[in-house]
Amino acid sequence: MGVISYDVIVLGSGPAGEGAAMNAVKLGKRVAVVDQRSQVGGNCTHQGTIPSKALRHAVQQIDNFNNNPMFREIGEPRWFSFPNVMKNAMGVIRKQVKSRTNHYARNRVDLYAGHASFVDDTTVKVIEADGHAQTLSAKHIVIATGSRPYRPADVNFSHPRIYDSDTILNLTHTPRRIIIYGAGVIGSEYASIFAGLGVLVDLIDTRDRLLSFLDKEISDALSYHLRNKNVIIRNNEEYQKIEGTEDGVVLHLKSGKKIKANALLWANGRTGNTQNLGLESIGLVPDGRGQLKVDEFYRTAVENIYAAGDVIGWPSLASASYDQGRYAAANIKDASTPHFVTSVPTGIYTIPEISSLGRTEEELTRDAVPYEVGKAFFNRLARAQITGQTAGMLKILFHRDTKEILGIHCFGDQAAEIVHIGQTIMDQPGEGNTLEYFIYTTFNYPTMAEAYRVAALDGMNRLFDEESE
Ligand SMILES: Cc1cc2nc3c(=O)[nH]c(=O)nc-3n(C[C@H](O)[C@H](O)[C@H](O)COP(=O)(O)OP(=O)(O)OC[C@H]3O[C@@H](n4cnc5c(N)ncnc54)[C@H](O)[C@@H]3O)c2cc1C
Repeated sequence: MGVISYDVIVLGSGPAGEGAAMNAVKLGKRVAVVDQRSQVGGNCTHQGTIPSKALRHAVQQIDNFNNNPMFREIGEPRWFSFPNVMKNAMGVIRKQVKSRTNHYARNRVDLYAGHASFVDDTTVKVIEADGHAQTLSAKHIVIATGSRPYRPADVNFSHPRIYDSDTILNLTHTPRRIIIYGAGVIGSEYASIFAGLGVLVDLIDTRDRLLSFLDKEISDALSYHLRNKNVIIRNNEEYQKIEGTEDGVVLHLKSGKKIKANALLWANGRTGNTQNLGLESIGLVPDGRGQLKVDEFYRTAVENIYAAGDVIGWPSLASASYDQGRYAAANIKDASTPHFVTSVPTGIYTIPEISSLGRTEEELTRDAVPYEVGKAFFNRLARAQITGQTAGMLKILFHRDTKEILGIHCFGDQAAEIVHIGQTIMDQPGEGNTLEYFIYTTFNYPTMAEAYRVAALDGMNRLFDEESE
């Protein structure tokens, strides 16, 4: 059987693989993408970002219908099941697969559906679902095989009531009560989704506060809003044993508590997909979390083999993965200056949504940076009053003397969009990044973007108030 040769082979068709493949094509390379799924899009499209965001959107619409008094004119609040809202998410997945497949076709990227493994550092074997094998070769190979939920050996994931973030999408009923073990981004987002469907949620956090990397005021706000939705947050807890029973699950915590529920969602950690990749054939050794180390060119320890996306660890976001893939391709084409992703905004699709960039109040205080705060509360913005989405706040942290913006922290409706306005200004070189931009710029009215002007004026007023005291 012949060997099919390319300039670049990309393993995985998630955001990192797609970013690498598309950029490599634009840079004149002949490219093949291999994915073990029959459809493109990676875990991002099929099990991660897309289904969870589509579920969340459906839940928000239900919440709006059930809680907005205007809708009582046309009917009483309605109950929706998890499989119901999942149907909506499946529709979005289909659309994503279609547009991405077309994108590959338009760009003349050859797609192979099969499991890939290295034969040597320029050769990959692809085993298709029917057992048929293909051999591909290329001077450069990009590993973009993503990650999967970490499954500790002492948790029985074959029990029908114990799920991880992949298998939860197959839930065929709506549990009355669910335990979510792990209160990172994925756990907190699913807590919002299930709480929105009227499920009683126990959110088990192994740390002392939710999403402790966030500015404290924002993470406190999230805890408040989740509690308001009947989520019980249990901080500083760790499991001793997870016991599957006939009709549910009992979680035994090290603190002595026992929590019973109809289902448990394990959302505690992920592992890089480097198993069965034949890495031993090329002398690459992943770390204990299955992740690969790369340099500032996204090169692994084998010089012609690159890696991007979740398989290299931080920040394990679709947003960054796409750019990492693009940059890996750019580095393949031209290795004179490295392209590397360093600054990534945080986008957390809980209800309410959270997004942030730059430093937190805690970090600035620790580093003794003289900063001031400007805030805009959504409940005072005309646009938020019109949409009824009044829970939220935009907070700008800026240097007292230079007015340089040091951090943007936002929670509430559209937070993940709003943060990008601040990001644009923060990215301006030199004196381009100051609070004044928001004061001397006319914003559309009514908009959520207007929050920047309100927050900037609030921050300036604080400075003047202090000066005039
Ligand atoms: C529930 C959830 C919600 C998330 N929400 C967000 C969000 O809102 N925003 C955000 O930015 N990020 C989010 N993420 C993270 C995001 O999904 C990942 O960062 C992103 O998918 C990583 O992209 P990737 O290209 O590295 O790999 P993946 O998307 O994981 O794709 C890798 C692909 O490689 C394939 N593959 C693996 N091994 C092989 C092999 N040997 N041969 C062939 N193919 C192989 C896999 O089948 C898969 O299709 C979320 C993740 C989860 C789990």
